[in-house]
Amino acid sequence: MFVRALYPGSFDPIHNGHLDIALRASRIFDEVVVAVFETPKKRLLFSTDERLDMVRKTFDGVDNIRVAKFSGFTVDYAKEVNAIVLVRGLRVFSDFEAEFRMGLANKKLAPEIETVSIMTDEKHVYLSSSTIREIAEYGGDVSSMTPAHVADALAQRFADLRANQNSPGYMYSLRD
Ligand code: ADP
Repeated sequence: MFVRALYPGSFDPIHNGHLDIALRASRIFDEVVVAVFETPKKRLLFSTDERLDMVRKTFDGVDNIRVAKFSGFTVDYAKEVNAIVLVRGLRVFSDFEAEFRMGLANKKLAPEIETVSIMTDEKHVYLSSSTIREIAEYGGDVSSMTPAHVADALAQRFADLRANQNSPGYMYSLRD
């Protein structure tokens, strides 16, 4: 049986922790759809198309990873693309409670879809998009935490925001 998995997230921006989970999932499942959630309940640094473009570049050349964007319920999108598995990454214990709750809610909404959580590599345990944004905002080097094109995009975005301090994005919160 051909098994397609969906790996959803905000990817604002994508980092090496996400990359590792998607690649490991691509070795387990026949195809992985990495899907950028368009309207997360958090303030975003990058637009949907920017996030999508960074995710696309990240997986360019990986045969069984497809990249897409979605809105609405994750399980509805999973059904739309015929994915029967939702992949999630687990970092620290504090992720567990939220992931457990979300996994059970998704199960209630769509009992036919299974959530599979993959434990992070210890190298990536501290990585989150918010930490990376915070480091990049203060000019820190994030090149060991993200693909090179993402580190470039972060440097460019914060340079633009600094040049235009009145823009609404400048005071954006660093927390998720
Ligand atoms: P974040 O803003 O927390 O980086 P996303 O909403 O983009 O997260 O996360 C998408 C998925 O990737 C979630 O399942 C999340 O737990 C997982 N993830 C995020 N960071 C890591 C990491 N460092 N290692 C493994 N999985 C991660």
